[in-house]
Amino acid sequence: ATPMSIMTATGRGAQAGVLIRDAEALERFAGVDTLIVDKTGTLTEGRPRLSDVVVGEEVTRERLLTLAASLERGSEHPLAEAIVEGAEAEGLTLADVSDFDAVTGKGVSGTVSGTRVKLGNAAMMKDAGIDTSGFASEAEALQSEGKTAMFVVFDGVLSGIMAVADPVKENAASAIRALHENGLKIIMATGDNRRTAEAVARKLGIDAVRADVLPEDKKALVEELRAKGAKVAMAGDGVNDAPALAAADVGIAMGTGADVAMQSAGITLVKGDLGGIVRARRLAHATLSNIK
Ligand code: ADP
Ligand code: MG
Repeated sequence: ATPMSIMTATGRGAQAGVLIRDAEALERFAGVDTLIVDKTGTLTEGRPRLSDVVVGEEVTRERLLTLAASLERGSEHPLAEAIVEGAEAEGLTLADVSDFDAVTGKGVSGTVSGTRVKLGNAAMMKDAGIDTSGFASEAEALQSEGKTAMFVVFDGVLSGIMAVADPVKENAASAIRALHENGLKIIMATGDNRRTAEAVARKLGIDAVRADVLPEDKKALVEELRAKGAKVAMAGDGVNDAPALAAADVGIAMGTGADVAMQSAGITLVKGDLGGIVRARRLAHATLSNIK
């Protein structure tokens, strides 16, 4: 593309909240055929709310929520914020935590009021050798609604589950439709479990799902698709997503997310709005066809 048409395109993009790093990013985006999108914060609002607390016989709902929320005060994950806010909304008094530990993509653990608490996904439970079958059907039902379910363990005993709901962005379905019409195949990659991920994907008409993906696996997925000859754009918001954004033909950062994601991206969507991907794609095609 000529310098002039590129300048016009980047200027027009900026007005619409689509920041394009350079001519190369714009040209490469015109040739992309596959778009990988992170779920949380990209397709969904990224502001999950506590929706369900399920307990067994031996513990009260109040105790489960109090200890879980106390522990999650040490985490910056959106799920953690949802649990803390949920407990605060119920007026619960949170306790101090010692031996706090967070495992990326899995969950958190620590000691609260003398109880060893573990809170996280099935992978975390598996690592700890904890049988989740006691709450499996409840967890599956919540996941089928697109909610994220987390297991809660007190002193090595599975004591309940909690779920958070993260609504899909208002324009996500229409943006996905427009991107399909623009010839893109769309793959969702998420650290969330398969059932939850598929429920969200079905709602949005996404072509394929990679669930239970650890942060380092998102980069591997980008590399795997590129090795097969795909021209890959990756959209994400988190610190976790930065390596995958950097490995893609074009990285697309949601401007509402982490700074490091934006530093790794060729395109930044200022308002975190998926419609920005549609606009960027149209801009890229218009700019390239102008100079042919
Ligand atoms: P995503 O790719 O959707 O942004 P993450 O990789 O950040 O998801 O997290 C993957 C999964 O790990 C979550 O769905 C959750 O089950 C579990 N997890 C991560 N952090 C926490 C936490 N602080 N508390 C509970 N569960 C967590
Ligand atoms: Mg995310």
